Amino acid sequence: MSFVEKLRVKPGKKCDLSNWKTDSTPGAKDEAAAEKATLEYVRELEKYQYKLHAEGRRSVLIVLQGMDASGKDGVVRHVMSGFDPLGCNVTAFKAPTVEELAHDFLWRIHRAIPARGDVGVFNRSHYEDVLVVRVHDLVPKKEWSKRYEHINAFESLLAAGGTTVLKFYLHIGRAEQKRRLIERLDDPIKRWKFNARDIDERELWKEYRTAYEDVLTRCSTEESPWFVIPADHKWYRDHAISRILVETFARLDPEIPEPELDVKRLRARLVDGPARGQ
Ligand code: AMP
Ligand code: MG
Repeated sequence: MSFVEKLRVKPGKKCDLSNWKTDSTPGAKDEAAAEKATLEYVRELEKYQYKLHAEGRRSVLIVLQGMDASGKDGVVRHVMSGFDPLGCNVTAFKAPTVEELAHDFLWRIHRAIPARGDVGVFNRSHYEDVLVVRVHDLVPKKEWSKRYEHINAFESLLAAGGTTVLKFYLHIGRAEQKRRLIERLDDPIKRWKFNARDIDERELWKEYRTAYEDVLTRCSTEESPWFVIPADHKWYRDHAISRILVETFARLDPEIPEPELDVKRLRARLVDGPARGQ
């Protein structure tokens, strides 16, 4: 079974998160070797992104979801560090503004979809509209319950337009989250990230888990799969995501285009042209 397959949520199959241990490291046992490989993957991603940008025909969207302190920002920092900012956009989705709320829930999302040739990273996403919204009853059930189908249709539209969507659920354990939140509170460098609401959300752990399981069961498709990433170990989280991205880019195999240029003539003009502008 390929690495990608190990962590992919099989479309059409009920996802039970208790089958995935948050501190497990499937496909990687040795931390030092995995970290070394991760550096290599990040370097490969850099090359692939260059080609994707040069090709200018297709795009890749990376969706990061997970409870507070599950490591979404860390993935952006470590795994995406090889991407050239010129062709990569990171968007963090917060609670919607008044203007955003005056539109359908996908309006703000669609505007942030990467253009052809670009890579987009979402730190939280349209999935919040069936997660936090569901858990806190922000809209009636009869409204949010239709959103899974809307999301699948939307992602299918993106796929048809050349956007590969990959969705990563950072699966962190409750004990590890507690440890990280305490660390945030204790460390003056990290304290700014602490939000008292994180404790309220933590108390709704079970509700979130059910909401996540529904997302993973209903919205993992062949075209736009969900991956469950055991995330208690930061080194494994970065290793797994970078490896899945490399495998995906290899499959996409972007190519640097060969423009129809008369290289010889153009070169001669540059070489033999006047020394100074006239
Ligand atoms: P953070 O990612 O820690 O900066 O927090 C962002 C907050 O915005 C989280 O509490 C999310 O649940 C919240 N958020 C993101 N999208 C939505 C949404 N569509 N509706 C309500 N809250 C949202
Ligand atoms: Mg937060």
